[in-house]
Amino acid sequence: MIIMKFGGTSLGTPESIQNVFRIVCDRVDQDPVLVVSAHAGVTNALVETGRTAPGGDTNVSEIVDLHHRMLEGLDLPADLLDEQLGEMADLVRGMQLVSEASPRGRDLLLSFGERCSARVLAAYFNQQGLGAEAVDAFEVGLRTDSNFGRARPVPDDGRIVRNMGDVQGVPVVTGFLGRDADGNITTLGRNGSDFSAALFGNALDASEIQIWTDVDGVMTADPRLVEGTRPIPTMSFGEASELAYYGGKVLHPATILPAMEKAIPVRVLNTHNADNPGTVILPEYEESSGPVRAIVHKDNIHLINLVSPPMLQQHGFLAKVFGVAEAHEVDVDLVATSEVSITMTADRADHLPSFCEDLAALGDVSVESDHALICVVGQGIAHTHGIAAQVLGTLAEAGVHVRVISQGAVKVNIGLVIQQVDVKKAVNALHSHFF
Ligand code: ADP
Ligand code: ASP
Ligand code: MG
Repeated sequence: MIIMKFGGTSLGTPESIQNVFRIVCDRVDQDPVLVVSAHAGVTNALVETGRTAPGGDTNVSEIVDLHHRMLEGLDLPADLLDEQLGEMADLVRGMQLVSEASPRGRDLLLSFGERCSARVLAAYFNQQGLGAEAVDAFEVGLRTDSNFGRARPVPDDGRIVRNMGDVQGVPVVTGFLGRDADGNITTLGRNGSDFSAALFGNALDASEIQIWTDVDGVMTADPRLVEGTRPIPTMSFGEASELAYYGGKVLHPATILPAMEKAIPVRVLNTHNADNPGTVILPEYEESSGPVRAIVHKDNIHLINLVSPPMLQQHGFLAKVFGVAEAHEVDVDLVATSEVSITMTADRADHLPSFCEDLAALGDVSVESDHALICVVGQGIAHTHGIAAQVLGTLAEAGVHVRVISQGAVKVNIGLVIQQVDVKKAVNALHSHFF
């Protein structure tokens, strides 16, 4: 069987859902299991609702109308989603009553996006004569921890494959959602449906995990920032993880792991151009035309500097620093150290003040915001001389000041920190140099 994951951008209008139906029909002999995101814009609207409801704004008409337009456009019964949309409105009123939206409540609220879209798709498929059933991932065994907003899955013991056996027709599974040990609905973090697709692919031993989106595959840079980007025909799991982790927004960073565990190829495809081969991500690295595969970037990161002269020649300093990061759940993306100082980047502004407060016990701390991370990705970098020199030379020529540089000995990437204002200039300069 194959997993076909459709993102919100591919489910934004009745016409795009009709298009998705044609794409699935053409592949029905491959035994597809669908994993779907909420319709485009719905998760953002739900996030906003969760923010304003405690202050008294319980208006959910924008979200309700969007779903009603979808039902009308597809000629589906107008009351198809009454139960879900009703529960959603009740929850929002509850948030207003208690003047609070807990992390648990916010995840429950977000879940209605995917719960609705899966039902719309399944109903439309049935109306068209292709048997399908909407499946809530949390009902068939996608279990997670209780870290609301960015929950992590707990290992599957075969329950998913057992439960999926009872589904009639093409399963249309909600992406993004799981359930914790206490029975609460959780979400896997923004863009988490890619991750769901990989988790289901792993659990069901899929022969391929297809991520259907609105571009021709993984591109050589963010097409919204750079003109003339091209789809990358093949990438290794290692390259794709680096790309996703360091900002390539086309894939959720955790997507690759469950695929890698079972060596399942991941293919990124375009719903608006279904015959295009897209990008295939494979276990092994394949030589390509050049050493660099892509230039990716991550906006709005913080540079944290810790200077600690007394640490000179003492062991255990880094362990202490990372112990503090661990305690505050700060993911450090990139580090550069000298004997007496350490510079790191972090992207979670909410945890930063308390992190820095504790860090101050180890030395002088300063934080600089408005920075960005640029990452030059390619396994070929390891076998080619002088890539770092080309990167730095290109940026110098473009007048971009590099604050931090990091290149591991494994060399799947070169990471750089620059000022946020320079991102467009830097990515474009590097993209024209390497492509
Ligand atoms: P979906 O709704 O299908 O999950 P997303 O918006 O999450 O879609 O991701 C697809 C978008 O990611 C593309 O429209 C593109 O603008 C953006 N993107 C950023 N970087 C890249 C990249 N390197 N390759 C492809 N797309 C990228
Ligand atoms: N709907 C969720 C989001 O917008 C998950 C996803 O689309 O992958 O973040
Ligand atoms: Mg996405």
